[in-house]
Amino acid sequence: MITVEQSAPTATHADVVIIGAGIAGICLAGSLAPSASVVLLEREDAIGYHSSGRSAALYIEPYSNRPVFALTRGSLDFLLRPPEQFTEVALATPRGALTLAPPGQEDALDAFLTRWRPLCPAIEEIGLDEAASRLPILVPGYARRAVFDSEVFALDTDAMMQGWLRQLRRHSGEVVTSADVTAMAYRSGTWTVTTTAGAFQAPVVVNAAGAWAGRIGTLAGATAVPLEPRRRSAALVAAPAGCAVDEWPVVADAAHSFYFKPEAGALMLSPSDATPTEPCDARPEEMDLALAVARAEEAARLGVKRFVATWAGLRTFVPDEVPVLGFDPGARGFYWAAGQGGTGFQTAPAAARWMAAEIQGQAAPEDLAELGLTREALSPERF
Ligand SMILES: Cc1cc2nc3c(=O)[nH]c(=O)nc-3n(C[C@H](O)[C@H](O)[C@H](O)COP(=O)(O)OP(=O)(O)OC[C@H]3O[C@@H](n4cnc5c(N)ncnc54)[C@H](O)[C@@H]3O)c2cc1C
Repeated sequence: MITVEQSAPTATHADVVIIGAGIAGICLAGSLAPSASVVLLEREDAIGYHSSGRSAALYIEPYSNRPVFALTRGSLDFLLRPPEQFTEVALATPRGALTLAPPGQEDALDAFLTRWRPLCPAIEEIGLDEAASRLPILVPGYARRAVFDSEVFALDTDAMMQGWLRQLRRHSGEVVTSADVTAMAYRSGTWTVTTTAGAFQAPVVVNAAGAWAGRIGTLAGATAVPLEPRRRSAALVAAPAGCAVDEWPVVADAAHSFYFKPEAGALMLSPSDATPTEPCDARPEEMDLALAVARAEEAARLGVKRFVATWAGLRTFVPDEVPVLGFDPGARGFYWAAGQGGTGFQTAPAAARWMAAEIQGQAAPEDLAELGLTREALSPERF
């Protein structure tokens, strides 16, 4: 670790320095900006280059675990009714999700219903005729049972990021790109963050470095948080001949071995892979994409001939798959905003409120506490 003098003449001062301009760093920067001076640092020359530029852009409540559910449900009001000036476009539009259970997956479907229907009343088991009317290319005989969730939304992830960035800039916050954080030091209540674009100082530093959050934690001498980036692959394929797919739901099997969903007149397709990997600029493996096509074509007559585009991104988890939001128990003023896994966008509005309140020494947002969210469940102290 390189120690930079606190009085370094070139250092820029702020109340909060945030490392990483993906959705986690951006939503927090925008939310803090009205009441604090904020600098947002990004290693790449553009924001949202890594996971946040590669997501499926969905809002799905019956997903993951209770804390993630609370952060998701706690975000819905913002997504459906964003504050004035935040955006001129809809952030969330109804999409719906169709889950299919072929032979052998009925237990998985039952487990899904038992777990989530009490929390998400929009989930209903539907007949196979209705499933076929929602997905006209459904292969007859593929599914034994089907479930539809009308409360799944498509998110405009670019509008979300732009909305918070506008809010940041309106309040004189700063975004510094091409700023790779290379060293951090804490002295007399101030962090000095050394980057390839100069030094930045603040009493609070936020680690929103996505797949690299473990490395930033090491630079800061913080608690070892067991973060694991997992690769997820995707491809864009043309809509099946003669099909207008825009109104189709997200389609998946109950075992989560594939999903596809409409994307600007085409279909995005994924094998729902989760391959542990080192932090990197993720690229898809041909084999994963071939698996996605094979599994999806068992369920639906997609007629995939070629890929229009392919990509992969990293979803970063800790073992309990609950995001890590909270001050480090050892490194003073070092705040974790990591481990968002596969839900960084759908949880962002609530996560931003949660983190901003904690960083500013305020009580946890009441509505989120009522949904059962506790600081203990999210804190890095649990490691
Ligand atoms: C295929 C796929 C589908 C997904 N689908 C959904 C979905 O439908 N709904 C949903 O809510 N979520 C989804 N996700 C998950 C979502 O994309 C992530 O949870 C979210 O983008 C994570 O945001 P982040 O800001 O933590 O990470 P990132 O977007 O990766 O941002 C971290 C940033 O930190 C920067 N950084 C790292 N190290 C340094 C350093 N040393 N100095 C400066 N900057 C640094 C990186 O360059 C990066 O830009 C999906 C993800 C994938 C890959």
